[in-house]
Amino acid sequence: MKFSFEVKESDLLGRIGTLSVGGKSLETPCLFPVIHPVSQIVPTRDLKQMGFLGLMTNSYIIHSRRKDEALEKGIHDLLDFDGVFMTDSGGYQVLEYGDLEVGYKEVATFQADICSDIAVTLDRPTGYPQKRSVARETVDYSLKNARSTLNEFGERDTTWVGPIQGGLHLDLVRRSAGALEEAGFSFLALGSPVQVMENYMFADLVRMIIAARKKMRYSTPLHLFGAGHPLTMSLAVALGCDTFDSASYVIFARTGRYMSRNGVMTLQSMKYLPCSCPVCTKTSAKELLELDHGERTRRLAEHNLFILREELEACKEAISEGRLWDLVEERSMAHPRLREAFVELAKHSEQLSLGTPAIKERGLFVRSAEDARRPEVLSAKARLSEVMSTYAKAARVGHAGEGRPRRKSVHDKGRDLFIHHPVFGPVPAELEFQYPFSQTEAEGTPPAVTTQETSKTKAAGHSRVTEKKGAKTRKAVRSRRTRWGASPSPR
Ligand SMILES: [Zn+2]
Repeated sequence: MKFSFEVKESDLLGRIGTLSVGGKSLETPCLFPVIHPVSQIVPTRDLKQMGFLGLMTNSYIIHSRRKDEALEKGIHDLLDFDGVFMTDSGGYQVLEYGDLEVGYKEVATFQADICSDIAVTLDRPTGYPQKRSVARETVDYSLKNARSTLNEFGERDTTWVGPIQGGLHLDLVRRSAGALEEAGFSFLALGSPVQVMENYMFADLVRMIIAARKKMRYSTPLHLFGAGHPLTMSLAVALGCDTFDSASYVIFARTGRYMSRNGVMTLQSMKYLPCSCPVCTKTSAKELLELDHGERTRRLAEHNLFILREELEACKEAISEGRLWDLVEERSMAHPRLREAFVELAKHSEQLSLGTPAIKERGLFVRSAEDARRPEVLSAKARLSEVMSTYAKAARVGHAGEGRPRRKSVHDKGRDLFIHHPVFGPVPAELEFQYPFSQTEAEGTPPAVTTQETSKTKAAGHSRVTEKKGAKTRKAVRSRRTRWGASPSPR
């Protein structure tokens, strides 16, 4: 059965894609809610109605609790869901319960026999914190099983996912991802983020995902295990995670935790329900609290799923509009640790520029030091510096807006005018209205031309720079361009 992944739109490393498996298609980024094969709180049919076309479940639990039934019916009939089923190998449980009888062969055979659409090869989660020597063992063990499974079961109808391990040992994460790509996996998954996220180590999460993606082909989709928090979803999407699985919707619900766009709240302390999902429009915070535990858990779980769905839609819309950076930044304001992660993300602009369109329909906002490092700004700066090197050694620096009315006459006379831009510094007047120079909005009014701007222009290779002083100084100098021919293009 053919597996394919097609990228339709992208921004940063985030993409809207179509993942096709077993004749079924999913639009990514998407979340596979984790369901319990024995005691599922929100029925699988309801999940489908809510728009979740893929689900995740644990093959070890099915094997130990409903094995015969699963083999007879197949996983889709067993759990009453005709969408895409992804199964986890149960590596963690195998380890925890010391089930040494179970090897990669048994795990893969069972997953293929119950007709799982996407299955994870038997792995050993690295976890956190973890000693380097143990982390290396988890990587080697998971890799060995992954290679053997793909070699022996690659022809079956199930699509195999290669699990990347290594935890916070980034060189091991890179080695793991690179080796799985080399082995021929068309779908990879990054393990061990759960404890990292539970400890609010979001900057480390950024480093882990970046390390994995660095060794992956752009076209290979990446799954992030156990990531179901509305606040980190856009961050993970921006770093190139295409699918997620999580049981957070129900784990949070059991303890009365209510997800929101700005974080997780405790129902007990809430007077209002700031949400318009079917659950929250039909009930009040007080009524929800008065329900018995089972019913309250179910309703809270449903609400949490709506919030996760809403956040994924927000990510997709942001990718489509070319404003994923802005969404990640907006979410990062909810917690100082998230802000730290955003600062870390900004350090990887070069990698993020891979999926960022060169020209966007929307303007760019520059509000912070991090924004000045957004991929669009850095790539425009690189183009600009190439263009600047073709100009004369002498220049005059003016104010924004000065270029347009004077442009013709200035050029006719073969003179160069540079407009001071608050983000880009000196920009040749003829580029002032090109993307992204006129479409970039920075905070406050642009500062007047200062000695600093003059020295920046000098640093760009112009030895004689004249500043505009009052209305009188209009000194422009002969351009090298008039001797070289046509104006240079930024692209
Ligand atoms: Zn709600």
